[in-house]
Amino acid sequence: MRSLIFLTILGTSAIAFADPVVTTSPTTVHPGDAVLVTVVGATELPHGKAGGRPLEFFPAQRGYQAVFATPLSIDEDHVLVEVNDGAKPVSVAVVAKTFPETKVIVEEELANPGKEDGQKIDADNRAVEKSYAQAAGAPQFTRPFRRPPGAVTSTFGEWRTFNDGHRSQHLGLDVAAREGARVDAVDAGTVALVRETFLMGNIVVIAHGAGISSLYFHLSKVTVAEGDVVKQGERIGLAGHTGRTTGPHLHLSIHVSGGMVDPLSYLKLALAAK
Ligand SMILES: [Zn+2]
Repeated sequence: MRSLIFLTILGTSAIAFADPVVTTSPTTVHPGDAVLVTVVGATELPHGKAGGRPLEFFPAQRGYQAVFATPLSIDEDHVLVEVNDGAKPVSVAVVAKTFPETKVIVEEELANPGKEDGQKIDADNRAVEKSYAQAAGAPQFTRPFRRPPGAVTSTFGEWRTFNDGHRSQHLGLDVAAREGARVDAVDAGTVALVRETFLMGNIVVIAHGAGISSLYFHLSKVTVAEGDVVKQGERIGLAGHTGRTTGPHLHLSIHVSGGMVDPLSYLKLALAAK
């Protein structure tokens, strides 16, 4: 009897002091894909890095989670995920991807902006970049993001040549939406930025916490203000074709720690914040 009790205590303590275990989902990615890191068995909020960049962990229904972006410009065949506390590092395999090329015809001033418009574009980009800081801290969501309705008309990473001149990479997902259709928050968060921009048109950026932001472009109307707290599925504006577009649609971008990610890869992550 005494030896049985002893063994039970030993067994319990062995589990309590085991090293934390790190897993990633998926385990193989393309440049621009989002990756979910889960740490089970840590006694406190873990700290870690993916590809040398800090991870932003949050308490999850099981252990802790963090999301990071596989850089679009990555030239290595893996991303190393390292977590403190004695956990074994995990390697995420990166498989190169050739993104589609398309030609787009828009108004000349939108294809090849002049100096003054160029300055406005730079200021717009700085404002968006700055808004990402508001996504730091605890997650404001508990469920995975909800994909906006509408057929996909353009995918993430596509290369576009505008009027045979300027070439740029599409850092979001386009879905069909008629002019004036309601646009909803993909998840709960706080409105971090509302701005009338040159190329992206009327935009809304929502900060969701855990370093995650969602961005909505080309809106005909914005129905929220900076600082508003929104629920998942709450209306934030109406679809339109403001900025550099060929017609009404919704452009959705997702920014996480490390950069922009393919929204379709992000929507597959089993996020479960506590
Ligand atoms: Zn787009």
